Amino acid sequence: MFTDKLILRIPGPTPIPPRVQLAMSQPMIGHRSGKFSALFARTAERLKPYFGTTQDVYILAGSGTSALETGVVNTLQPGDEAAVLISGAFGERFAKICERYGVIAHRLEVPWGEAVTPELVEAFLKEKPQVKAVFATYCETSTGVQNPIAELAKTIRTHSDALFIVDAVSCLGAVACEMDAWGVDIVVTGSQKAFMLPTGLAFLAASERAWKVIEANKPLAFYLDLKAYRKSLADQTTPYTPAVSLIFGLAEVLDILDEEGLPAIIKRHELMRDMTRAAMRALNVNLMAEDAYAAATVTSCDPQGAFDAEALRKVLTKQYNITIAGGQQHMKGKIFRIGHMGYCEPLDVLQVISAIEMSLHQIGAPVELGAGVKAAQEVLIAHV
Ligand SMILES: *Cc1c(COP(=O)(O)O)cnc(C)c1O
Repeated sequence: MFTDKLILRIPGPTPIPPRVQLAMSQPMIGHRSGKFSALFARTAERLKPYFGTTQDVYILAGSGTSALETGVVNTLQPGDEAAVLISGAFGERFAKICERYGVIAHRLEVPWGEAVTPELVEAFLKEKPQVKAVFATYCETSTGVQNPIAELAKTIRTHSDALFIVDAVSCLGAVACEMDAWGVDIVVTGSQKAFMLPTGLAFLAASERAWKVIEANKPLAFYLDLKAYRKSLADQTTPYTPAVSLIFGLAEVLDILDEEGLPAIIKRHELMRDMTRAAMRALNVNLMAEDAYAAATVTSCDPQGAFDAEALRKVLTKQYNITIAGGQQHMKGKIFRIGHMGYCEPLDVLQVISAIEMSLHQIGAPVELGAGVKAAQEVLIAHV
């Protein structure tokens, strides 16, 4: 086995295309040089279609959570109230960030594996008309649920003046996002999931409505003050030293994404989702999310005691050099999650499914070798 040929099928960080790896190894350049400014401004501009916005996209140096925190500290004040729609571990993170800054977080929680629906949100907002912001997670990475953001935005717009702030860290660049058309106020994401880069960049776009709030608000943090980023972007730069090498990589990523085109990228992810789900069903492995809300980027499987998810993951790593993810929080040790986003193709999905079948066989789980692969192949063939 080649020890450097690790097959990463977790929902972030994701594999990095060789072209991108190469682009990131360019010699360092001055971050205040004309060359970097031109590249930075152009790269930020090129992110807009992936957000579905004509607004500027801001690039910060930080992990995805810094983007979530930016969404909170620029729009709210201690004592303000917010609604947080929680369908798993990452929804809860928004609530915790709010509370750290003294914002009162009203949690609308659904059981893990379920999506937040417009009906639930409508009823919740009627009870809490005072909220100034509603936070949601587009793809809830911990459960493999993709929340219906367009519908939620419509409901929130109809029943409230609150800003709608969306964590799209584990799906932007792989799924549709029409921020302007849907009426989402802030969309945030990070570099290490569908954007095929190492961790370290956070992206954020804000609507005109959101900017009115941000401009009038006293930011609760220094580094994450969006007004500073806005002032700098007008001069094609950032207030603090940008992650220059990651920007080199991002420019290359955008070449790759633009070459395939967003509609084809979206279709590829849906296909990989459908292949994975068909395979797991054929193997009698329970899926956490129902079809209507299944994430295009990550599939969460709950064996419900039929076999040991951790034993499966161990064999996959040891025998096949494949890493899949386990569960988070109360699902730790109970479930497994297969990432299929970014630099990942349908044939890669066949590979991970095949390895899962063999590993299941090796841990003594009842499995018909080839059943999952066959089901996935059938989905793939029907598609081409
Ligand atoms: C990965 C992820 C984040 C960000 O996590 P970091 O570790 O800070 O990059 C936030 N939200 C979701 C839904 C995620 O999947």
